Amino acid sequence: MFTLSFDQKILGRFSRFLGPDQIVTDPEQLDMLSWDALSKGRLHPLRKPDVAVPLCVVLPVSTREVREIVLLANEEKVPIVPYGGGSGLMGGALSIKPGIVVDLRRMDKVLEIDSEARTATAQAGVVLEALEKELNKKGFILGHDPWTLPVATVGGAISTNSMGYRAGIYGSMGEQVMGLEAVLPNGELLRTRAVPKSSAGIDLKFLLIGGEGCFGIITEATIRTFPQPEQRALHAVLFESFEKGYKAIQAIFARGLRPALVDFGDGDDEFQGGAVLYLAFEGNRQVVEAQEKLASSICDQAGGRRLPQEKAERFWRNRHIIARRFIQNRRQRRERGMDGVYWDWIHVALPASKVLPFRKSAIEIIKRRRVQLQESGLWIQPELFSMRLGIEDEGANNAQLALEETVDELLRLVQKMGGSMEYTHGVGVKLASLMAEEHGYGIEVMRRIKQVLDPNNIMNPGKLGL
Ligand SMILES: Cc1cc2nc3c(=O)[nH]c(=O)nc-3n(C[C@H](O)[C@H](O)[C@H](O)COP(=O)(O)OP(=O)(O)OC[C@H]3O[C@@H](n4cnc5c(N)ncnc54)[C@H](O)[C@@H]3O)c2cc1C
Repeated sequence: MFTLSFDQKILGRFSRFLGPDQIVTDPEQLDMLSWDALSKGRLHPLRKPDVAVPLCVVLPVSTREVREIVLLANEEKVPIVPYGGGSGLMGGALSIKPGIVVDLRRMDKVLEIDSEARTATAQAGVVLEALEKELNKKGFILGHDPWTLPVATVGGAISTNSMGYRAGIYGSMGEQVMGLEAVLPNGELLRTRAVPKSSAGIDLKFLLIGGEGCFGIITEATIRTFPQPEQRALHAVLFESFEKGYKAIQAIFARGLRPALVDFGDGDDEFQGGAVLYLAFEGNRQVVEAQEKLASSICDQAGGRRLPQEKAERFWRNRHIIARRFIQNRRQRRERGMDGVYWDWIHVALPASKVLPFRKSAIEIIKRRRVQLQESGLWIQPELFSMRLGIEDEGANNAQLALEETVDELLRLVQKMGGSMEYTHGVGVKLASLMAEEHGYGIEVMRRIKQVLDPNNIMNPGKLGL
């Protein structure tokens, strides 16, 4: 007797409500969408995830279709991976079990721009840059401005609670969300009210903000937007050392100034030993001028030397170049680090009082483990600290292990010092094993919520340590 294979059965059921161009089974496409922007060289060699070829990719165009897909996946007990721009760096959109990739990029409509409310409502698959362009036509900006503006989607940015170059005044993507619509793992529809503040119980949008698709699929969001800034002031300032620059940044915040951007680091080859601060203020002209003046005098007093204006302008102009390159070399990026030159980074949040002590201890750990420190830096706030590390194999074959053990030791030290192991890229599979230490009993709370909403564990299983 002829029996349908499991895959054929699923495809047959999808074809009842999706058109042929909404179901992808081409092996090359399946391979491409089984992976995101995580490089293999950044994985701990003893904790490599199993990667599976998806059964298929589906491309819904409406919330109704997303619901049908989730209900079917539940009946058949097949895992689902929500997929946006695929630019996540932690493996949140990796297929680690054969399942259904739900690619949301055809849900690409900007549904409403409400100029009076200063909000935009968009489907989850809208690419951030497309939303930005629509808003610009009406005199507004999105505010959220990550490197990956040309590729990341509204849903992906909310699901990772991503942060961009101007987060100092506009906040992270999660902070911009007023309300959202999502299909929960059991197929029910959750709609939270698009208001700036409510005290009517727990705000359930936080199940989805930073949820990496484990608690549902975001289908729509209403986002706070901002008027086009009248003025932007950019500065590049050189400090003799990281510590001196850090003190200046702390003083800027202590005086109540709110730079849109702080980008500070000691990795510029042109100024070895020194550290360069890129500072941006934007918004109302008078406010920008007053903030700029005060910030300049603080930097002068701390021994900062203003660099040519063109350096600051170039930095700003080029901020999305790396993402445009990523669009061209997605596939190669996956293999990065497999040629014996490994690099990885940490982006951690610490109390401001702990940043310099952490940096000092981290440098000792890095030296002891014979790993190279390429840069340490800050982004947006003095509390948000990063380090880029590298190592070459030189035939010893244990370099990747040495690098990843160093990363683990640094992240555990951050947690011990009261900080958080990641402030912007999420957890995915890369940091899943550290989630219990990060959250204590909190991870159990997350697991129980997930069990209730997702009894068949179909929604992006294995991510966030769930
Ligand atoms: C070169 C480069 C530069 C980067 N720069 C930045 C930066 O400046 N700031 C920053 O924060 N990050 C940055 N990133 C990381 C990445 O761009 C962000 O994490 C981005 O927010 C991911 O959006 P995406 O649409 O590509 O999501 P994806 O990678 O597709 O997905 C990310 C996670 O969200 C889930 N997901 C996707 N869509 C939905 C949905 N609709 N509902 C529920 N879950 C969903 C996925 O399952 C996955 O877990 C960078 C990445 C690269 C490669």
